[in-house]
Amino acid sequence: MTEVFVVNSGSSSIKYQLVDVETGAALVNGLIERIGESGSPVADHVAGMKLALEALGTGHDIVAVGHRVVHGGTLFTEATVITDRVEKQIEGLSPLAPLHNPANLIGIRAARKALPSVPHVAVFDTAFHRTLPPEAYTYAIDADVASKYAVRRYGFHGTSYKFVSERAAEFLGLPLADTKLIVLHLGNGASACAIDGGRSIDTSMGMTPLQGLVMGTRSGDIDPAILSYLYHEAGMGFDELDTLLNKQSGLLGLTGEGDMRDVQDAATGGDEVAEAALAVYRHRIRHYIGAYFAQLGRLDAVVFTAGVGENSVALREQALAGLEGLGISVDHVRNAAKARDARYISPDGSPVAVLVIPTNEELEIARQAVAVL
Ligand code: ADP
Repeated sequence: MTEVFVVNSGSSSIKYQLVDVETGAALVNGLIERIGESGSPVADHVAGMKLALEALGTGHDIVAVGHRVVHGGTLFTEATVITDRVEKQIEGLSPLAPLHNPANLIGIRAARKALPSVPHVAVFDTAFHRTLPPEAYTYAIDADVASKYAVRRYGFHGTSYKFVSERAAEFLGLPLADTKLIVLHLGNGASACAIDGGRSIDTSMGMTPLQGLVMGTRSGDIDPAILSYLYHEAGMGFDELDTLLNKQSGLLGLTGEGDMRDVQDAATGGDEVAEAALAVYRHRIRHYIGAYFAQLGRLDAVVFTAGVGENSVALREQALAGLEGLGISVDHVRNAAKARDARYISPDGSPVAVLVIPTNEELEIARQAVAVL
């Protein structure tokens, strides 16, 4: 067994998993929540990490700790062994991901304290998108401003895209180097990625995870002039606008519910507001499928993954409805089949395959941690 402890630290939570890299099995899986909240028994991340390690039990031979880090900027394009210097560099990237990097770093510090003799490795959500060509990562703004402030598209969910694209090529029986995919990672956060020969060539999230698809609480794409309009007309400050777009928009903003299951249940029950929100969600997905088909020039498969993508039969079918002209269609029976593994949901002989591939970010982090050592 090659055991890797995988940590995903949020501002008030620690998600952890003990992974056997050889079999891919999750030996222990857990979540410590409400860290530091008033009345919570877990005072801080150091206490939380102690609880997580206690939950693993004894007798484990952990070879590495893999940490999910959201933003690697242009500095980190590969998984990296964490030193004090690397910690400082991750901290330095915090302005690019103020909601994520500081929280990731608190987890790293707590884990290094708890397991000082084991190597710790940072695996970055942005790293897979290092292959984006300049025309895909450049925003058409003043080049000096962009360069001075590192304003460009970075893209996220990269760990998931790497895992899912490799699995998809294997499942299709195609060499990864010749495979063209559109992967839709639809969770609370959601994004799309055009992957050509295993390389990310375009992705919907941007400098931050706010751009692109409609998400649970994030708006995705908007006209940037809406910000100054609301600043002047509604008297909203920039923190308020930031909160509006990140926490009060998306499905939550449109319907009052941020969880896809609740929105779908409401729509099924005849709620027109919920149905209209789902129509916006699907419209945005189709927008990116069309765009990425054009960027790729040819397409082997559309792949659904993450919470919504793996589980929502209705969303998959409705999002791809009407795309037969592009060679994309969904087989009702295959789509509705209850299964957990990678599977086809397109009919036999379709020009473009449609797949559901469960993601496994923890396993991918564990593999990369071992590989870098
Ligand atoms: P995260 O982005 O936080 O990692 P997940 O990938 O687990 O989250 O996705 C969470 C989302 O998946 C939620 O919006 C949830 O409603 C949705 N989801 C989970 N199961 C289903 C289901 N059976 N039908 C529709 N949506 C689902």
